[in-house]
Formats: sequence, structure tokens, C-alpha cells
Amino acid sequence: MEKNSIFDDIKYLKGVGPKMAENLKQLGIYTKYDLLTYPPFRYIDRNIIEEDKIEDGDYVTIFAQVIDCGEIFTRKGKYIFQALAKTKKENYFFLTWFNNRFIKNNIKKGDIALFSGKVRMKRGGYEILHPDFEIFQDDFFELINTGKIVPVYHTKSNITQKYLRKLVFNLLKEVKSIEEDLPSNIIVQKNLIDLTQAIKNLHFPENEKKKQESLRRLKYGELFYAGLIIAKKKIENRERKVEKNYLPKSDLVDKFLSTLDFKLTGDQKKVIEEILSDLKSARPMNRLLMGDVGVGKTVVATIAMLYAVDSGYQAALMAPTEILAQQHYLKIKNWVENLGIDVELLTSSIAENKRRYEKIKNGDVKIVIGTHALIGENVVFKNLKFVIVDEQHRFGVIHRSSLKEKGIDVDYLVMTATPIPRSLSLAIYGDMDLSEIRERPSMQKEIKTKWVSPEGIVKMYEFIKKRIENKERVFIVCPAIEGGEEADYESVKKVYENLSKTHLKGCKLGIIHSRLNPKDREKVMYELKEGVIDVLVGTTIIEVGIDVKEATVMVILSAERFGLSQLHQLRGRVGRGNKQSFCFVVSSEDITDEAKKRLQVFSKYNDGFKISEYDLKLRGPGEIWGKKQSGIPVFKFADFFEDFDLMKEAFKDAEKFLYSDMNLLKMENRIVKINLERRLNEKVD
Ligand code: ADP
Ligand code: MG
Repeated sequence: MEKNSIFDDIKYLKGVGPKMAENLKQLGIYTKYDLLTYPPFRYIDRNIIEEDKIEDGDYVTIFAQVIDCGEIFTRKGKYIFQALAKTKKENYFFLTWFNNRFIKNNIKKGDIALFSGKVRMKRGGYEILHPDFEIFQDDFFELINTGKIVPVYHTKSNITQKYLRKLVFNLLKEVKSIEEDLPSNIIVQKNLIDLTQAIKNLHFPENEKKKQESLRRLKYGELFYAGLIIAKKKIENRERKVEKNYLPKSDLVDKFLSTLDFKLTGDQKKVIEEILSDLKSARPMNRLLMGDVGVGKTVVATIAMLYAVDSGYQAALMAPTEILAQQHYLKIKNWVENLGIDVELLTSSIAENKRRYEKIKNGDVKIVIGTHALIGENVVFKNLKFVIVDEQHRFGVIHRSSLKEKGIDVDYLVMTATPIPRSLSLAIYGDMDLSEIRERPSMQKEIKTKWVSPEGIVKMYEFIKKRIENKERVFIVCPAIEGGEEADYESVKKVYENLSKTHLKGCKLGIIHSRLNPKDREKVMYELKEGVIDVLVGTTIIEVGIDVKEATVMVILSAERFGLSQLHQLRGRVGRGNKQSFCFVVSSEDITDEAKKRLQVFSKYNDGFKISEYDLKLRGPGEIWGKKQSGIPVFKFADFFEDFDLMKEAFKDAEKFLYSDMNLLKMENRIVKINLERRLNEKVD
């Protein structure tokens, strides 16, 4: 790296010692470049205003001389520092600071300065409380904090706004120009300002227009690079031609369809078509199947796997949890057994069985279902060709791809129950083809959701008792397994005990949580399904994919403690059969505004897309899906919602650009190559 580069460690910047460098790292600022591209989250207009237009409450900046100043101690012992300043137009401003004993060291009589703050009309003049100020010195005549549009950054307590501004300001002076990182024809085509201009105007914009131009430039830049990364994967996949021998038509699938006791929905048929046509094509399938909980993805997966099996291949389905793998296994086995297809389950809690592995290796077993155990070294396939990963709502690029390594040129389908906004799926799965199921099986009725306050609990349980008399089943979810005195409503064990003695006396209750061993969990789930018990009290372990058609009531206690997407996943446990289902969220009245907002949104919307969109708005993508392994690009400037159009544009441009120089070998693209590599490296650490 060249000497004195903007990618140097921030600690080498003047005014930043090792200690401050540590603080800056807390803000994600590791290098000078990070500081240069550290976005203000808002701006304050501190241009000097015309004094005759001042109104009470205005935010103003004035240019004035201090004609008097001093300390005041009130009778109650409060400390005040006050200055009187006069402008050229002979307006008087009282400048007042409470409890700040340092000010007196910074302001003295005769100083000429800019002062900014909210103004109050006062007899004999105006008053500004705690103004920001910038004193003019003959030899140092620069405006940082006032006299222009100034940035406001997100910061932590040990880094002041003023310090950050000064740091950025000085760095901008030091770094005269920043090397352009976009191809020059794109700059021209898109009518973008150059990077140096953009970064300068990001922090201290000359005016509103410049600020907008600079933001657009910086957003486009990061989107372009995200687009390059995606396009690279996509093109590589598109260009591959592989050996495949799928049947044009499968009798096995037809036979399976004739045994199904329901008709496929239109959306199910559509996505099956999309999947089968991928399989028949000459390139490997790389497809994402999106569909809210309960829309019926499993049957689609089964049909696709049968198609592969009939064509002579093995297929594997990987689920994120043991329970879910088990459930898939039981369901699919039950469906395809009579067709003479051998299905196996592999999870880490099932004792290793040589014979079973042997049967996978020699190809007797056609369909293997399991957890991460599937990627274990000892699992060897004869001819694995089709891999499905059911992510439910967890994203993980890491485990996903390892299963692909078990076969050659594997066709690959990812299923997710988190309906994500289009912009996000473009950024995460942009290299994949997208299939979507929105239509629900027609017999499913919309779940009714009600937010219940503590007073409503008695009535709620009366209602639940009636449902139980009607042979319907109930889930009750608590945030914790066990807790202290105060946690009556929060712990599974307490709730279980209390309900058995009070509201649900006479009903058959069961309990489920992560400390039970998988066998016992399985047993209690089975008991609920079979009606041995009516009510299952548990933790969010019942969140994932459990399919009990008779379950019509989901109660979520201390609901304020759950995230929006999680609540929605829980709700998806009911409403799978043809009866009306209900979801009750119980919370105390004394909860944060944010929690209130969540529960409001949750009670109002049943549509997973709406829910996840709100979740994304409330928390941001990193919080929901985890930053590191999720593969979600982290944008400094672009917003997944507001900049969707720009994202589409930049992604398209990036793809086109890459087609023109796949390996970025052209001289004029050298800078793009360097920057792309830098960005890719950043991602890994
Ligand atoms: P998910 O998409 O969450 O994996 P499932 O595949 O578990 O959903 O399906 C939910 C329930 O609906 C299951 O009991 C399934 O058998 C049933 N189902 C799926 N498709 C249909 C359909 N077209 N008509 C009726 N029931 C269906
Ligand atoms: Mg499922």
C-alpha cells in the first residue's frame, strides 16, 4: 500500500491517539477512508441569518462581538456563565450556559465569534441557551461548527460532535483528492459528481443541491460494488453448462399427485413448473423459494425431489433444527413410502448407524432428510444431484453450500419462510432465481389476532376452554423456561403449574422447552397431535415449522419481549387446518413505545411481507439476520426501502459492466478491480 494512504489506520491521523482510535473503532471507523465516508445522519443549517427576520424559537447563527461576560451563582447554588454579544446591526444577544464551568476559559470580552442555537425573545434583546460557537482568531480563520451547513454524526459519549467535525474537517484539508472508484464512462452516463466532490459535500455541503448530488453519488457507488459481487456469482452460474439427465416427464410424480388428499394451489403449481424447468435446463438450478409459514412449501419440495429420484438421482433436504427435520421426515416418508421410495433421517442425536450410511452410499436410499448432520464427513452419497435447504427464517451462507459439495453440479433450492422485501432479496439472493408462493391453501382461514391486557386474561382462558371442549389444541408460549418470583407470566414452568391449578384446571397440559431431550420433545409433540394433551406450554422452541392441524389457538405471554418476525413465526403454528384460528398476545400495560408499536403492527397485519417490512424498518436488516454470516451487504448510504430504484439501476449497470470485462483485466478498469478486492476482503473479517 502506498505511503500515507487513506486506508491507513486512523490512529495515524493528527489529533487521534491510540486511545481515541479505539473509541473511533466503536463507530466502525478504522481508517481515514472510513472517517471520510462516515455519514452524518442529519445536518444543521448554520448559515448566518438576516437579523431583521428573526422570530422567537428560530434556529439562528449570528456573527457578533462579546461586550461583556461573567459568572453568576444563583441562590440555589447553580452555576451560570453569561455573555452579552452585539452584532453589527446593534442587536443584543444574551448567551447563557448552565453548569458549564469550562466555558469561561473559552470566551472572553472582545472575542468575535459565530454563535448558533435556538433563539428566545427577551426584553432588551434575544437569548440563546447553550449556543455552539466558533471564535475568530486572526491567524486561524476557519469555520467548522458554524457559519455553514454542518453535519451531525451518530457518536458515543466519549467522542464529541465537535471533535468529530474537527477531525473530518482537518482530514478533508489534508486529503486534497480521493481517487475515483467508479468507471469513468459510468460517471458520465449516470451524471454523477466525482468522489472527492461527493465526500467533501457529504460532510460540509455547500448547499442542499450539492448535498443531494453527493448522496446520490455515494449511494450509487456502494450499490454498484454490491451489484458487481452479485453479478459475478450470477454470471458464473449462468454460463455453466452441466451434464444432466432429468426425465422429460415423471410417472412417479403423477402417481404421487393422485394419492394426495388435496389439490395444489395455483401458486404451488406455478413454482413446481419453475423448478422442474430449471432441473431440465442445461445449467444448475440456483433458486430461492419464498413463502410465508403454512403456504405449503413441503409438498413442492417433495414433488421436486421425487422428480429427481425418478430421474435416477438422490435428493437431500436440510432443515435448521432437529424437530423440523423430524417433521419433514415423518411427513414425507408417510407420503412417499407407498411409492416404494426409501427415505432416511440423519440428525446428530440419532446414533450413527453403519447400515444406514451404507444405504446412502450405495444409493438404496433415495431421499435423505436431516439437520447439519447431513454435511458430516461420514455421509457419502452415490449420486446426489438435488439439494434443498429449508432455512425457515434463518439465513446462513456457510452451512448451505457445504451440502452442495456432496454431489457434482448440484441443483440447488433454498426455501425460506421469511418473506423479505424485494430490495433485500435482490441484495441477498440477487444471484438466485426467485419463486414465490403467496396464495394460501383455500381451506385455511385468516387467523384472528388480539392484543390482550392483563384484565382480559380471565376471559381469554374461558374462551380457550371452549375451544378445548371443541377438541381443538392450544399453544402457550413464554419467554423463559423458569424464573424467579416476578416471572409468573414469563416462565414455562410457572405458567404450566398455575394454569393447571387455575384457569385451565381439568385440561390436559404438556410442557416443551430446550432442556428436554429431543426424544421427550418429540413425544410431547406427538401427544399434542394425537390429542393426548390439549395444551402445550413452551418456549419459542415451538416456533419452527411445527404442523398440528387441530391447533387453533396460540397464546404468547409477555409478548413485548419478542421481535416482530418471531411473533409472526409463532402465529404461523396455528391456522393450518380448516378451522378458525386465534392468536392472543398478552402484555402488561407498562411497555416501551417501541414494543407497543410492534404489537400494534402485529395485531393489524397477517401478511408476512408486511410484517417483515416493518421489522426491517424498525430494526434494520443487520439486527434481524445477523451481519456476518447472513451475506447481507451493509450499506452506509443506501437504504433498502428508499433506494430500491437506484439499487436496481446500479445492479443492472454493474452486470453490464462485468459482461464487458469479466475478469476486470482492462487497464481502465484497474481501479475497479482493486476496490472490488478491497471490499471483498472487508467482508471476510
Ligand atoms: P410451509 O410452507 O410452512 O412449509 P407446509 O408445507 O407445512 O407449509 O404446509 C402447511 C399445511 O398445509 C400442511 O399440513 C400441508 O400438508 C397443507 N397443505 C399444503 N398444500 C396444501 C394445499 N394445496 N391444499 C390443502 N392443504 C395443503
Ligand atoms: Mg415448512
